[in-house]
Amino acid sequence: MTDYAERLILILLGAPGSGKGTQAKRLSKAYGIAHISTGDLLRGHIAEGTEIGKKAKEYIQAGQLVPDEVVMKILEERLKEQDCKKGYLLDGFPRTVQQAETLSSWSRPQDKTIAISLDVPDEEIVKRITGRMLCRNCGAIYHTFYLPPVEASICDQCGGSLYRRSDDEEAVVRERLKVYHKQTEPLKAFYKTKNLLDSFDGSVHPDLLFSTIGSYLDTK
Ligand code: AMP
Repeated sequence: MTDYAERLILILLGAPGSGKGTQAKRLSKAYGIAHISTGDLLRGHIAEGTEIGKKAKEYIQAGQLVPDEVVMKILEERLKEQDCKKGYLLDGFPRTVQQAETLSSWSRPQDKTIAISLDVPDEEIVKRITGRMLCRNCGAIYHTFYLPPVEASICDQCGGSLYRRSDDEEAVVRERLKVYHKQTEPLKAFYKTKNLLDSFDGSVHPDLLFSTIGSYLDTK
């Protein structure tokens, strides 16, 4: 059966560590849409030891992008799930012009697509990512300096244990930033020319950023 419902498709662009994950969690909840992080989907495959995971691991550890066809395949499957019917928020996707073009080819005329870019200077990114810790259980994000948990290595929200991503090591972060500027940043122009993009200062406090983006989305 054809589905004619309007879907909200929110695209969060920004360098690794620009705050996409934190904002994505809050925005997807506030707007009642699915939060889809291609990085999380890939890490899920790695944890399960699937063929896709084995392929993806080398690229991720090297700070490189996983090939488009691999990412498109897992995203296509994920978008078929029931929780995407009303719309979805894409966190870390698209990352190449090819991915953006394929995504556009999937959209329906009644969809509302909004791209948001979070802009943060590179040196700030390095500071943020190298101190980042995540909860193994609920995915909550902490920082050794900016947002330390009450009890070391324990999640304040669910008591889960905190870990550091292996690709958050400084040398890999610098490579990921290079890749971002070369392959992903051109997407700002891609969406800007379609009149679908607005940029926000991602250096401000996450609460302020969330309310600024929320006010902006409410006008759309
Ligand atoms: P993230 O969790 O979004 O920082 O992604 C972690 C890593 O997964 C990236 O550095 C890439 O290697 C890979 N990855 C995630 N999303 C994509 C994507 N859309 N295209 C290609 N590679 C991706």
